Amino acid sequence: MEKRVYTFGEGKAEGSQSMKNLLGGKGAGLAEMTNLGLPVPPGFTITTEVCTHYYKNGKGYPSGLEAEVSQAMRRVEQIVGCKFGDHDNPLLVSVRSGARASMPGMMDTILNLGLNDDTVQGLIRRTKDARFAYDAYRRFIQMYSDVVLEVSPHHFEALLDQARRKSGVKNDYELKAEDLKNLVSDFKQVVSEETGSPFPMDPNAQLWGAIGAVFGSWMSARAISYRRINKLPEDWGTAVTVQAMVFGNMGMDCATGVAFTRDPSSGEKRFFGEFLPNAQGEDVVAGIRTPNPINKDSSNHDDLPTMEKLFPKVYGELTHLYQMLEKHYRDMQDIEFTVQKEKLYLLQTRNGKRTASAAVRIAVDMVKEKLITEEEAVLRVTPAQIEQLLHPRLDPRVPKKVIAKGLPASPGAASGEVVFSSEDAESAAKLGTNVLLVRHETSPEDISGMDAAKGILTALGGMTSHAAVVARGMGKPCVAGCSAINIDYKKQQFSVEGTVVKKGDVVTIDGASGEVILGHVPTINSQVDQYFTQFMKWVDARRTMGVWANAETPNDAKVARQFGAEGIGLCRTEHMFFEENRILAVREMIVADTKAQREAALSKIYPMQKDDFVAIFREMKGLPVTIRLLDPPLHEFLPHTEGEIETLAGLLNKSADMLSAKIRSLRELNPMLGHRGCRLGVSFPEIYQMQTRAIMEAACELILSEDYHIEPEIMVPFIATIEEFHLLKQDIKIVCEEILAKHKIKVPYKIGTMIEIPRAALVADQIAAEAEFFSFGTNDLTQMTLGLSRDDAGMFLPRYVEKGIYRQDPFAVLDQEGVGQLIRIACEKGRKTHPKLKIGICGEHGGDTTTIEFCHRLGFNYVSCSPFRVPVARLAAAQATLKK
Ligand code: ADP
Ligand code: MG
Ligand code: MG
Repeated sequence: MEKRVYTFGEGKAEGSQSMKNLLGGKGAGLAEMTNLGLPVPPGFTITTEVCTHYYKNGKGYPSGLEAEVSQAMRRVEQIVGCKFGDHDNPLLVSVRSGARASMPGMMDTILNLGLNDDTVQGLIRRTKDARFAYDAYRRFIQMYSDVVLEVSPHHFEALLDQARRKSGVKNDYELKAEDLKNLVSDFKQVVSEETGSPFPMDPNAQLWGAIGAVFGSWMSARAISYRRINKLPEDWGTAVTVQAMVFGNMGMDCATGVAFTRDPSSGEKRFFGEFLPNAQGEDVVAGIRTPNPINKDSSNHDDLPTMEKLFPKVYGELTHLYQMLEKHYRDMQDIEFTVQKEKLYLLQTRNGKRTASAAVRIAVDMVKEKLITEEEAVLRVTPAQIEQLLHPRLDPRVPKKVIAKGLPASPGAASGEVVFSSEDAESAAKLGTNVLLVRHETSPEDISGMDAAKGILTALGGMTSHAAVVARGMGKPCVAGCSAINIDYKKQQFSVEGTVVKKGDVVTIDGASGEVILGHVPTINSQVDQYFTQFMKWVDARRTMGVWANAETPNDAKVARQFGAEGIGLCRTEHMFFEENRILAVREMIVADTKAQREAALSKIYPMQKDDFVAIFREMKGLPVTIRLLDPPLHEFLPHTEGEIETLAGLLNKSADMLSAKIRSLRELNPMLGHRGCRLGVSFPEIYQMQTRAIMEAACELILSEDYHIEPEIMVPFIATIEEFHLLKQDIKIVCEEILAKHKIKVPYKIGTMIEIPRAALVADQIAAEAEFFSFGTNDLTQMTLGLSRDDAGMFLPRYVEKGIYRQDPFAVLDQEGVGQLIRIACEKGRKTHPKLKIGICGEHGGDTTTIEFCHRLGFNYVSCSPFRVPVARLAAAQATLKK
C-alpha cells in the first residue's frame, strides 16, 4: 500500500523539500525545517495524491486513510504530551492547505481545532487562563463555520462588534473571559440557526470536516479561476497539513509574525518583518491591528516597539534561524513564526515573493555572496519581471477606479486627457498636454497621433492589431479590443456602463493588465541600475541565439541598440511611404497607367528612401539590417476623401472622375490575400528595383564616405513558390551587382525571404536552394494557417480562449502544434538543401517567452522583436539555453 500520510516532529520528518509535489509547498517546507532541527510544532501531511483520488472517486477517500491519519495523530500526541479530544489535556491542531505553488483562493487555515464545550474546560485547567481558552474557542468556531460550514462571517463580526460595544472596549483582545464565553454560546446559536444542526462537538468529526473542506476548496470557483489565469494544471491537487497548535495569544509574552530574509520590495540585504504581541495566526496579515516592526530596519513609524526590543532573546534566535534558512534554501525566504511564552516556533518558510527590481538585486547579490551560481541567477528572474522593470507602472499604493478592461496589448501605464483623433492628439501634445488617443481602431494614418499620445486605447482589434503592434514598437502603453467602451466620435465621448467620458477628461490605462481607469493614477518609473546591468551581462554570456529588433526609423534603431539588439530583423518599408510629404508621390506611382509614369513617380521617392536607409545603417553601426521590400496592398495608400482625390488629380492633370475610376479598379475584396508583397514586385518590377537601388546605394555611400561595415539583408515578402522567388531574386541581384560594379566595392549582402504563406513552408527545400535566409513572418503565417483574420478575430477570439478552444491568443503566443509544425517542417527542409541557412523570426511572437524557447529548440539563429522587448527576449533566450 502506498504511503499517504507523512509525519514530522522532534527533529525527524518522513518528507523533505524535494517532495514538494507530493506534500505541497507548505508540507514539504515543514518537513525540511524539522529535519534541519528547527523548532517546528509536530504534525503530518496528507499527500496531494489523496486529493487527486478524492476527485477521481466521487469525493471519496482511499481505504485505510483513516487509520493512517489516526496513527499519525497518535505520534503527534506522544510528542506534545496531550491527547486529541481529551477533556483534561486536549491536543489542539491547525488544518492547513498547501499546493505545489502557494495559491490564493485555497481554503483558509483553521486554527484551534479539537475544542468543544468539554475540552475547553481542560484547556482552562491546563493553562489556568480562561480568557485565552475562550478566545481560542470563539476563533475556532468563527473560522470553522466560515470555511467548513459556509456560514457567512458577518454574523460573527456583528456579534463581536456588539460584545465590544457592550464592554466599552475597542479591540477584541480587551474582551474578558466572561464576554468571550458568552460569545461562544452566541456563535453556536448562530450556527444552529444558519445550518439547521448544532456546531460539531466531536473532534474527529471536526477534523474530517476540515480535511474535506481543504480538498473541496481545490475546486472552488476562486481556485479554479486562479489556476486558469496562472496556467496551473488541475491535476496537481492540494495537500492537507495537520499540525499541533502553538499559541501566540496566551499573553504579552507571546506573539505571532511574518518576516522576509531580505527586503521584498528593494531586494536590499536586511531582515524585514512585522509581528503582533498577544495574537494568533492571521492577525498580522488581516490588518485588524497595526503590527509592530521586528527591528528598526522594518519600521516606518517610531511609536511601536520592535521585537528586537520587546523580545531580545527570541529576536536573536530568529536572526540566527533566518540566516540558516536562507543559506539552506539559497533564496530569500518568507517566514511565519509564533512565540509562545518566550519560545520561538517556525510555522512556514517559502521562497518569498518579490518585486521585479528586488528579484534582480537579490539574484546579483547572492552570486556575489557565493550562495548561487551565475546560471542560477539567470534562472531566478522571469522575463515578465524584466518587462515590468523597463516600463513605468501604476503606483500600487494608489486606489483606482477601473471602468473597463481590454486586452493588455502593450505594457506600461499612462494617464492623459482623452482625445478621439490623431489631429487632436498632435495639437494637444504640441501644447504640452498629456493625451490618450481613443479610437475604434487605428490605421497607418494615425502614426503621428499615436506618437504624440501617451497611450492608446482602442475598442476593436486584437493583440496584433495595428494599434497593438505600433504601440509595442513605440514602447507605449496600449489597451486594445476594449469592447465595453462605446465610442461616439460625433459627440467626442465614450461611454461604458453608464459612465460617460468626454474629450478632455482624464483617464489612465494599464497596458500590462488591460485596465482602463477613471482619473489620473500616478506611475512609478523604472530604472536601469548597476544590478540590472550586471544581470544582463550574465544573461548575454549564456545565450546562444541572437536577439534582433523590428525597427523602421533611425530612432527605433537607436532604441533597439540601447536595449542590446544585435541587428534589425525586420525593417518594414511601407511606413516610409506613408509620410506626409511622400504620400503624394506614392499615390502617383500607384495610379500610374504606364511604366514610364510609374518610373517618374518612383524617382521622386527614391532619394527619400535612400536617405532613410543611410540613417538606419548609420545607427546600426555595422550590424545586420534586414529590409523587407514593400508589402501592403496598394489601395491602402490611395486617397480616400474627395479633397485628396482632387489634389492628386490636379497634380496628374487628370479628371477627378477618371482618377476615381482608377482607384475603384484597384480595390480588392480580400486585400490580405490579394495584390500585395512579392506579387506587387512581379506586377511592377520597378518598385523593388527602386528599393533595392536605394538600399545598395545607401550602403555604398556610407562605406565609401564613412568607412562603415554594412550587411544589408534584402527580404522578399509573401513568397509562395520558388518561381516567384527565383524571378525576383534575379532582378534584385542584377541591380545590386550593377551598383557594386559602378562603385567598384564589395558589400556582403544577402537576399532571402519571409516564410509567411503555408505553401512556402511546405516547399522550403526548393526555396532554400536559392534563398540565403528565412525569416518567419508568424503574424501572416498564423493568420493563414488558422484561417483567422488578425484584423477581425477580436470579435470572437476572446470567446475561443475563454472556452479553451485555443489555450492562448494565437497571435500573442505561437500555436506550436499547428503553425509551429509548419515552422519545423520549413526549418528541416530548408536546412536539407541549404545547411547553413540563416533562420530567424520577425512576427510579433518573436518577443514571446515560450515562442523564443521554441525557436531555440529548432536552432534558430535569431529572434527579432520590438525594441522595448529586446531585454526580455535576451533573458528568455538565455533561459532557453540553460533549460535545454
Ligand atoms: P496561509 O496559506 O494563508 O499562509 P497558513 O496555513 O500558513 O495559511 O496559516 C495561517 C496562519 O496560521 C499563519 O500565520 C500561521 O503561522 C498560523 N498557524 C498555522 N498553523 C499553526 C499552528 N499549528 N500553530 C500556530 N499558528 C499556526
Ligand atoms: Mg502561511
Ligand atoms: Mg506579413
